[in-house]
This record gives sequence, structure tokens and C-alpha cells, in this order.
Amino acid sequence: MYSYWYDCIRICLCDACRCNGKSENERKNGDEERISKYSFVSPLCMRGGDGYNSYSSNSLLQRRVLSKAKPVLVKNTKDLMINLNFPTYIKVADLGCSSGQNTFLAMSEIINTINVFCQQRNQNPPEIDCCLNDLPSNDFNTTFKFIQFFNGMNITSKESYFVYGVPGSFYSRLFPRRSLHFVHSSYGLHWLSKVPEGLEKNKMSVYITNSSPLSTYKAYLNQFQRDFATFLKLRSEEMVSNGRMVLTFIGRNTIDNPLHRDCCHFWTLLSKSLRDLVAEGLVSASKVDSFYLPFYDPNEKEIKEMVQKEGSFEIRDLETHGYDLGHCNQDESKRSKSGQNEANYIRAVSEPLLAAHFGDAIINILFNKFACHVSQHVSCRNKTTVSIVVSLTKKKTFLMS
Ligand code: SAH
Repeated sequence: MYSYWYDCIRICLCDACRCNGKSENERKNGDEERISKYSFVSPLCMRGGDGYNSYSSNSLLQRRVLSKAKPVLVKNTKDLMINLNFPTYIKVADLGCSSGQNTFLAMSEIINTINVFCQQRNQNPPEIDCCLNDLPSNDFNTTFKFIQFFNGMNITSKESYFVYGVPGSFYSRLFPRRSLHFVHSSYGLHWLSKVPEGLEKNKMSVYITNSSPLSTYKAYLNQFQRDFATFLKLRSEEMVSNGRMVLTFIGRNTIDNPLHRDCCHFWTLLSKSLRDLVAEGLVSASKVDSFYLPFYDPNEKEIKEMVQKEGSFEIRDLETHGYDLGHCNQDESKRSKSGQNEANYIRAVSEPLLAAHFGDAIINILFNKFACHVSQHVSCRNKTTVSIVVSLTKKKTFLMS
């Protein structure tokens, strides 16, 4: 049996984002099936542990996003219980759970909603399997340490839930057929399964910017469409009819110019910071030119079109919320604090990718530059970055007899 460890052992740290750990020959010679089965960018993971620079200590932004998505999560959990006629067993998955306590916030919301709703409707609460998924490189140990926090989270019926870890890419099958009732995923699906081909003309920028060629946008959109369609198809195999999904993306609110990103977009500022290091002779221009992020920020229209085109799910809710980095733009000291906070958020989610390509030595100085750039932009308005929450119902599947 093929094991995902195979991918992990063969990480090519020199240029991991582009070759996904495979040699040219392997990519050409029949490795396709394995790549598609376990496709993900090898060094992609959040910074583990619970130290100063860890994801766990720098995920307040994502926590705010979870609280904005809460009404959609609660509504869809209740609808699920009604549509499935208050079942005795429910299996819930959080995809892209990362390390830290955020994943338990979403899970505890779902469990509490189910238990309280059952009480209100005079029904017995179901037993609940809670499956926490992320890439094999994720620091699951740190997540599991927060189980105590979960236990203390006001969960009304302590005996009724069971927690599991599920290592693997959500662009591969993770669960048996028709076994899942509810899927939640927050701030994971903007990570692509790979860096798209054909970005060479996008010079000295790690992502789409206002000055990128249109081909860069097309390459990223194409990869997002393929990945999101794969995700929907695989989940439709794993979910029961009438099952629910609540997905939250980092997205953009622009429709007309697909290249437009505001001047303080975090990847634009990261590109600027890398160019500073090139100017200071600390990094070569060719090194920056060969690094691109496996990331895409769709708008509502692109998400809607993909769900409709793939066809397994129906959209219930689609909401856009402001992207709240908690900036305060009053005085100088608060501005520099905002810069440092955003630098910490972005470092926690991108350090393993950056360190794999550029080496560890530049990381501190890179994020000092980044913090300075952010502090010069804290009063910018007209931001294009938003959070998009979509809830979906799995359409009925008719089995052949
Ligand atoms: N849901 C959490 C974490 C968001 S960070 C929160 O709201 O705080 C995004 C997470 O998605 C990371 O931990 C990353 O490792 C994970 N991720 C990215 N691509 C993935 C993939 N293909 N399969 C599973 N997890 C993935």
C-alpha cells in the first residue's frame, strides 16, 4: 500500500514549492496517480508548537473569522439535525484544523448546538465523532494538548463525543464512502495543492499583484478551479445525502479587474520585503523570481460558479465579511504594534514554506521589514481582502440497484 510517508521523506527543500519533492523524471513517469492521490505542497504547514512565533499563538485573526461565521455554522447544524431526522450518530470533520485551539472552537460550537437543539426538541442527543484533519506535517500534538480546553468548553453532554486525528490532504480521499454528516473548514481552502505552472513572467512577486501579467491570474484561477472541484467531488463521495458543509475562504471583493489587489495586501508586502533583501544583497533576485505561493483568494462569483459546475452540492448561504486584522491607526506606537502583529500572523502561516526555499537565516530580518511595511499602511482603506463563508448541502445520490 502506498504510504504518505513516502512524500514526506522525499521533500526537496531547495525548490519544494515547485517540484513537490519529485524529480523531473518521476513527474513524467507514471507518478501521476500517486501525486494526485496525496497531492499537497510538501513544506506547507503552519508553524507548530505554542511558542512566540507559532500558529497557535498567532491565530487570533482566524478566531475572529470563526466567530463571524458562527451564525451560518449554527443554522446549518440545526438544519442538518432536522433533515436527518435527529439521528443517533453524527460524524463531523474539521478539514485543515492546524495546531492550536481554534479547531476546538468550531467543534464545540457544533456539539453544543446539536445538544441544546436536541434538548429543545425533546430528542436524545446523538453520539458524535469529531475528526480533525490536516496535512501529515501538521503539529497534531499541540492540537491534542488543547483537548482539555475543549473539555472545559461548556460542552453540555461530555460523554457523547469522540475525537480523532486524520492526517492527509483534503485533495485526497480521507473518509469512507457516505460516512460524513457535517464538514467544516475554515481558512484552509485558499491553499492550493501545488504552485501553478506558467508563472515565470510574474517577476519579483510571490503572488498576483496589480502589475502581474493576465496569464498569472489565469494560471492561479485554473489551479484553484481544479483543486476546488477535486475537493467537492471527494467530499461528495464521503458525505451522506443532505449532509452539510460550511467553508470559509480568504477571498477578495473585486469582480472587474482580476489582478487588482490593494497596496497593503499581505503577499504584496511580503514581495516588497523580499525585494528589500535583494537590494541589501541578502537574497538573490533569481531566488525571489523562482518562489511563488500555492495560494488563491477567490471572489464570491468564482466560488459560486465552481460549486454549480461541479454539481454535487447546493449553495445555502454565501456571505462576505471584512477581513479584520485588528489594526488601530491612531498613534505611532500603536501603528508599529499593528505592523508587528500582522508580521506575526503572516510569519506563522508562511515560515515553513519560506524557510524551505530561502533558508532559516533570513526569516527574522524578512519579517522585521514586513512589519515596517505594514505599519506604513495601517490607515489604508478600500481593502480587497475579505472572508467568504459558504454553506452547502450534499444533493441526494440515487444508487443503482
Ligand atoms: N482552521 C484553522 C487553521 C487555518 S490555517 C483555523 O481556523 O485556525 C490552514 C490550515 O490548512 C493549515 O494548518 C494547513 O496545514 C491546512 N492545509 C492546507 N492545505 C491542506 C490540505 N491540502 N489538506 C489538509 N490541510 C491543509
